[in-house]
Amino acid sequence: MKKGRILVFSAPSGSGKTTLVHYLMQHTSNLHFSVSATSRPPRGKEQNGIDYFFLTPAEFKEKISQGDFIEYEEVYQDTFYGTLKSQVESQLERGENVILDIDVKGALNVKNIYGTESLTVFIQPPSVDTLRQRLIDRGTDSLSAIEKRVAKATYEMTFADKFDTIIINDRLEDAQREVLKVVGNFLDND
Ligand code: ADP
Ligand code: 5GP
Repeated sequence: MKKGRILVFSAPSGSGKTTLVHYLMQHTSNLHFSVSATSRPPRGKEQNGIDYFFLTPAEFKEKISQGDFIEYEEVYQDTFYGTLKSQVESQLERGENVILDIDVKGALNVKNIYGTESLTVFIQPPSVDTLRQRLIDRGTDSLSAIEKRVAKATYEMTFADKFDTIIINDRLEDAQREVLKVVGNFLDND
């Protein structure tokens, strides 16, 4: 049986990655979301096993030493995130495609491991000012948290040209069409 393939989405916070990944999953069959592990506590309505596997820092370290991760990163200071082999490899073996939503460095590490069996997609906002405005309009972060995210975004955007594809999320309908096209080409291409 043909093995599944991996889609890896990264973007600065507020670029519209969640919006586009949800849209893609609604319009693509045989695509499964990989739930990551993190050492941070749940936020708001997040549920264990659905949004993340929430681990203590000690449990996270134990999994590192057991080789349970495909990749992991300290995305924020003292806060680890990692892609579990158990979330990805059995699905690929069953011929299912898997989508990862991970940070820029993790994405490039996955590309190094899976090569042409993976597609890395960078979702880019039209400008930093637009990104800031979307975060303000979303209304989920304080102004100081927004400025931190914007500063980090500028750094993350320096990685964009290392991705297989960059999708600029200006008009949402255009970005949605582009995501379906790029992913469709990749998954249908033997
Ligand atoms: P991320 O997951 O990258 O942090 P979200 O998907 O939560 O981003 O999007 C950030 C905010 O911007 C949300 O309020 C979303 O509804 C809005 N948004 C997403 N794409 C667009 C777009 N093309 N134009 C305007 N607003 C958008
Ligand atoms: P948040 O805490 O806002 O849910 O996520 C913070 C960041 O961690 C996001 O950029 C997200 O893409 C990234 N992230 C989530 N899971 C993983 C993972 O498994 N590996 C890596 N490298 N980054 C991840």
